[in-house]
Parts: sequence; C-alpha cells; structure tokens
Amino acid sequence: MQDKPIIEPVIETTIESGIKPTIESNTERIRETAKSLFGITMVKPFQMLVMERILEQDAGAFVRHQLVILPTGTGKSLCFLVPAVLCNGLTIIVYPLLALMNDQMAKLKKAGIECICLRGGQTKQQRRQLWNKIDGGARIIMTTPETLLKPEILNRLSQYRTSLMVIDEAHVILQWGKDFRPQYSQLKKAVFELMPKQVLAFTATASKETVGFIAQHLFPSKPLVVRGDADRENIVYAVYRCLDKRQAVVDILEGCERPALVFCRTRHETQQLCFEITRDLAARNPCTQRSFPIRYYHAGLSKNEREKLERWFIETKDGVLVSTCAFGMGIDVRSIRTVIHYNLPKTIEEYLQESGRAGRDGELSMAWILKETWKNNMQKEEGPLISVFEGNECRRRGLLRALGEEKDECTGCDVCLGMDMGTPSDEVVLRRFVKMFPFRFSVERAAYLLTANRDASVIDQTDMANPFFGALQNWNCARLKDAIKGSCIKETGIGNVQFCSKGKLLYRSDVSLYNFIALVLGRVNDGYLWIAKATGSIREIFGCRRSREKEKKTRRP
Ligand SMILES: [Zn+2]
Repeated sequence: MQDKPIIEPVIETTIESGIKPTIESNTERIRETAKSLFGITMVKPFQMLVMERILEQDAGAFVRHQLVILPTGTGKSLCFLVPAVLCNGLTIIVYPLLALMNDQMAKLKKAGIECICLRGGQTKQQRRQLWNKIDGGARIIMTTPETLLKPEILNRLSQYRTSLMVIDEAHVILQWGKDFRPQYSQLKKAVFELMPKQVLAFTATASKETVGFIAQHLFPSKPLVVRGDADRENIVYAVYRCLDKRQAVVDILEGCERPALVFCRTRHETQQLCFEITRDLAARNPCTQRSFPIRYYHAGLSKNEREKLERWFIETKDGVLVSTCAFGMGIDVRSIRTVIHYNLPKTIEEYLQESGRAGRDGELSMAWILKETWKNNMQKEEGPLISVFEGNECRRRGLLRALGEEKDECTGCDVCLGMDMGTPSDEVVLRRFVKMFPFRFSVERAAYLLTANRDASVIDQTDMANPFFGALQNWNCARLKDAIKGSCIKETGIGNVQFCSKGKLLYRSDVSLYNFIALVLGRVNDGYLWIAKATGSIREIFGCRRSREKEKKTRRP
C-alpha cells in the first residue's frame, strides 16, 4: 500500500508528534489520549499491543494489515479510536448499523473530537457541510458500506490521505455479505480506491472459516490475525431443561438477576413472547402486581422507537428486553445480568456475540440455553451448537474449542458447577399424573385439571378432588395443553407420555405392561389399545383409528 499513485493529497492533516515516535513514547501517547479523551485510566495489555502496532506501522514503512479478534466487552472500539486521533491522515470507520455509529459518535462528541457521519439520505447541502468539515480538519469519518461504496463518495474521499480504514463487527461480512448486504463483501473495492495505509478489521469472535472469509474479502494482502482470549470468564453458560420453552423463560425471568435480555429469532416471536411473559407474570402475581417491565425490540421498529427502547433499557435496572439479534451491537449496556436464548443462533460466533452482551461490567452473569427435554429439537435445527450444549461436557471448553482455543479451567458452566437439574419438576408432575391415571384423561382435560382451570364444560367435581388438581397452576392452561400435546405427538420419538386412544394419556413405559395384560387376556392383536377401548369411550377410539388411517392414506405419495 506504500506506493499510492498520482493523486496528491489535498489535505495533510495536522497533529505533529514532533519526534519520531518510539515504542515507549507511543505507549505514553496512548495512555494519555485514552485518559484525557475517554477517561480510561487502565489500558489493558492486549489493547495496548494492538494500538502500539497501529501507531508504529503508521510511522514506519512496513505495514501488515490486522484482523483483531477481541471478545465483546473488552474495549474493542478504544483500539481504533485512540489511533484514529493520533494518526495523521483520515480514519474511515465502517459500521454495519446506524445505531452503532450513533453510539460512537456520541462518545467522540463527549470527548470533544470532531467526527463526521456519512450515511444514506443526506442532502447535497448536508454533504457539502461535511466535506467542509473534513477540509477544516475533521479526520474521523463513520459510514456504512452502502454509502462508502457510492462512486461520488469514493471519488471525493480518494482526494485525501487515509491512514486507517477500520471495519468494525467484521464478522457480518460473512453473515450478511453473501446475500442481504452484498456491499459488505465488496468493501475491498473501497480499499483499492482509497489506498489506506492500514486496513483494520475488528470482530468479537471468529472461527477459522470466518477469518478466512474476512481475510479474502477485505484485505489487499494477507492480514495479521491478532486473537485476544475469547473466553468471557464472568459468564456462566448453562442449559435449562424444560417442558416448554416459553414457560422456562417466565420461570427464569422470575428468579434471575436483571436486567435481562431474551434473544428470539424473528420479529413476530419477540412480540409474541413479550406478550406472553407479561400476561403470565401478571397471572402469577394477581394481587401484588409485583412485576418488572418487559419490552420487545427488533429492526422493524422505527428509529425513534428503537432509540427510546435503548435508552429505556440502559436506564432500567430491572428491565427485560425481548429482542432479535438487532439489539446489542455497540449498544453499551454494561450491566446485563442474564441473557436467555429462546432460540439458538446458527453459529458459535453469533452465540458468543449475543451471550457476550451479558456482564460487560465484569460482574458475574448468566447465559441460558433452553432445552425441551422431550424434544430432540436442538439436533434438528441448530447444527454446530448441539455438540456443545447437548452432551455432558464443559460448555465453555466446547465453545472455545470450536473457535480453535483450548482452556484448562472453566470459570462456570452447568456441567462444571454440577447444576444439572435432571428432569424438570413440572415434567415429573406430568409423568406421575399420567402414570397414576392411565387411559383416564384427554390432553385438554389434563391441562385444565393440572392448572386448576375450573371451566365447567371440561372439568367436573371429581376432577377438582383429584390430588393433582392445580399441581401445575403456574402454567397457562393453553400452553400446558400445547406442551403435553408436543410431548405426546411422536409415538416413535423420545416422548415420555403418549396417546393410546384419541386424547387419552398413557405413560410411555407402561405401554408394554398393558400390552402384556392384553396378551394374558387373549387380546393379542390390538394390545393395549384394547384396554383403552375397554376403559374409555368406544366411539373415541374408533374415531381415532379412523383418523389415523386417514392420515396414513394422505401420507402416501
Ligand atoms: Zn465448564
């Protein structure tokens, strides 16, 4: 990148260091700048290493571009903001989200550093003012890939000398660049046009695949990969075994430290879950109304609403935010105590990014994964995260191993701490109930009885006298119905209970017992179904058989 051709820089920007910087004086300059501008008195060794290298390379002739992998919450942005102030030329910082940019702009403004934001939707006049600012000495530019790659912007910027081109949250190049923000993977074009002295990419986590992709799509030559320790020691990773994930979220939120963040996959899911949690908590504490505020957040909300929510979440000590992955990048809520993944993200990196929103203040925090015990859903959907959360091996070691790191000691996960909760207590209740009353209850009636729902059209006096009446009254009736249905649905699956006739529950392991009894009684062909027939309503069973046959027929190709 040294031999930048032809165009003479119109502007040579100022700050003169006076002497040719040595490593020692660089260290001092970094310390001083961090303290005076950002109020940071302790620069961590790793941050220092990265910043020193940037400044050394800025002054020297030999440059190796850097891909810096530093976990969330370790002060990534300091690593490029301080050099941006200290380097002579322009620093162009590319962000994936406007929210993130605004956050950094506010930080710089507070520090009294002039910085400009190039983004879509700016008028010609606004742009002219911005260019004037650069001509007047502003040296830090924040932008998005879409704006940066506009020919007129590239053209104009190429008239200046660029010291640093920084791509923050660079992992999104792989996540988003392939389809929904293609400009991300074209950033190399900007690198070739602007010829910055150094290209720096920052990300919190990156597997070998991501590193390879970023290196190929961003850097003009093979970058130096600088990896900080990816482990977040103050986060405890744990699996929450449950009968139903929605119920589990409510249970965890009621008992956990807050503020808490719940990650969902879709916008609709955030709204739905937020509504259900609010409803359930109100139902659990009808008299006291003792509850905590819950909101939802996703990229579909207006900018205004999102900013309001961000402010609200930063200010509310007890708040719960149900969000898609849109929340978090760069929004600096330092004291999130609990992160719950309602759905697991696709990759280990995404998971670590998201769970890494917890405990940025360094205090002990929890990261929960939900696992419905009767379902093998993790296996079906989640890919690389299963092996980490499915088995009985240390979660931390598993997560780090996937990133190519080895760790001897674990600072906390459900396996190492012996937190394994075994079968969830509500599932135990359900199993006992079905075992004790085989062939007796339909799914619906079981749900009404267990949640103490007194709807007279379903429940009668005998049900109310049942020892299990209200045994799961923390549950919403409709949800329990769903959960039982879910655990029953696959006779060949790993369900613990199952239908034996239309809607009548029978404990799975008892099927063989009743088959045996049927055999003794000479009913070889229809086995336990015959007992169902004998004990239950005949019409129901035939209805059930017919519908099963129907189902079989429709399945045929
Ligand atoms: Zn562990």
